[in-house]
Amino acid sequence: MLVTNTGAAALERNDSLIFEPDAVVEAAISLVSDMTEGLRLPERQGDMPLRIADYLAAFEIDDPLLVIDTDVVASNYMAMSRSLPVGRIFYAVKANPEHAVIAKLAALGSCFDTASRNEIDLCLAHAVTPDRISYGNTIKKQRDIEYAYARGVGLFAFDSDAELEKLAESAPGAMVYCRVLMECEGAEWPLSRKFGCEPEMALRLLVRAKELGLDPYGVSFHVGSQQTDLSQWDVALSRVAELFEDAEDLVVTLRMVNLGGGMPARYRSDVRPMEEYAGAIVNAISTNFKHGFPELIFEPGRSVVGDAGVIQAEVVLISRKSDNDEKRWVYLDIGKFSGLAETMDESIKYRFVTPHDGGKTGPVILAGPTCDSADILYEKVAYELPLDLKIGDKVQILSTGAYTTTYSAVAFNGFEPLQTVCI
Ligand SMILES: *Cc1c(COP(=O)(O)O)cnc(C)c1O
Repeated sequence: MLVTNTGAAALERNDSLIFEPDAVVEAAISLVSDMTEGLRLPERQGDMPLRIADYLAAFEIDDPLLVIDTDVVASNYMAMSRSLPVGRIFYAVKANPEHAVIAKLAALGSCFDTASRNEIDLCLAHAVTPDRISYGNTIKKQRDIEYAYARGVGLFAFDSDAELEKLAESAPGAMVYCRVLMECEGAEWPLSRKFGCEPEMALRLLVRAKELGLDPYGVSFHVGSQQTDLSQWDVALSRVAELFEDAEDLVVTLRMVNLGGGMPARYRSDVRPMEEYAGAIVNAISTNFKHGFPELIFEPGRSVVGDAGVIQAEVVLISRKSDNDEKRWVYLDIGKFSGLAETMDESIKYRFVTPHDGGKTGPVILAGPTCDSADILYEKVAYELPLDLKIGDKVQILSTGAYTTTYSAVAFNGFEPLQTVCI
């Protein structure tokens, strides 16, 4: 049995709230070390995974290309699995749905968080059994719920009465969890108020789920993507623990907490290692759940694939707006509509590698190639690039494995969507 199923095994024995965390951690760690045997630890060349650097050096590449090192994907997954062995990992497919990424994670025993029929089909196509798939979108068409249920998916998210009614009708008896609203403070890519409901409402909905013949399995939250404030999990878990107690009073025993994603990739600022996140999360669980661990689900996206990818782009034009303009405008052949959507509001601040690194630098405004004035990457955030940078230079954009291809328009302004190669 795979380590990631320890929580489920405990649940089958119907004692999810009383299993010994220490024993589980120990057993899980030994299983993980068995699994990691033969797993390659990715070497690096400077800031880049070595295999990606080698690939880029070996091929002439004309258009923007995302290169994913699936060894880095595997190693990120294993690092998380190793530091959080008491939970099951459901990779958030939307972060990067490349076949090679899904195949690699499926082979390592990952479960999958999906948001649509196509994402479910993708996982099933990689022989992921439906008990390893969660339909985590709180906004689903009735016929898509039916579709998923017919294929054996039995785990669904919701955050409203209407969605619960859809589930009761099209997925009778399914395990359901209610998403609770969080503030997302400290997150560089907050998910705002679009998903989740207030805890009081979640409580009412979970009671109603039981009345409707569904299995009120637990609660989910997401502290916001690229979350840099470790205390946010404690804030969230204290709310969730309270909700568990209130539900118990209403004779609804919740068993599972889905902690969503939020762990970071490495952009311009340093981030704390996975182990520190795991430590903060485990601490927050022990302090808030005094009577034992509930079953845990994690849904990492960015932290699994972000650092595994590098985009190679090209400088199309360098210009100034006046003869004595201090800032150069650097236009790349990739922009907001062809993969770098997360530069919206200049939120995610990527790192750039150029052939002239180490030389003297000057301030730049970075922009994409399309005829849309929104296609500016960084104007307010201060970026400097080498003064020697010239038209035609290739630049590498680091940690671009997550939320790039999936956010790329089909061919806005005639620019092809971002292509990927997995190595
Ligand atoms: C996007 C998403 C995730 C992944 O979040 P990251 O911050 O990329 O780890 C996890 N769960 C849900 C429900 C999501 O929508």
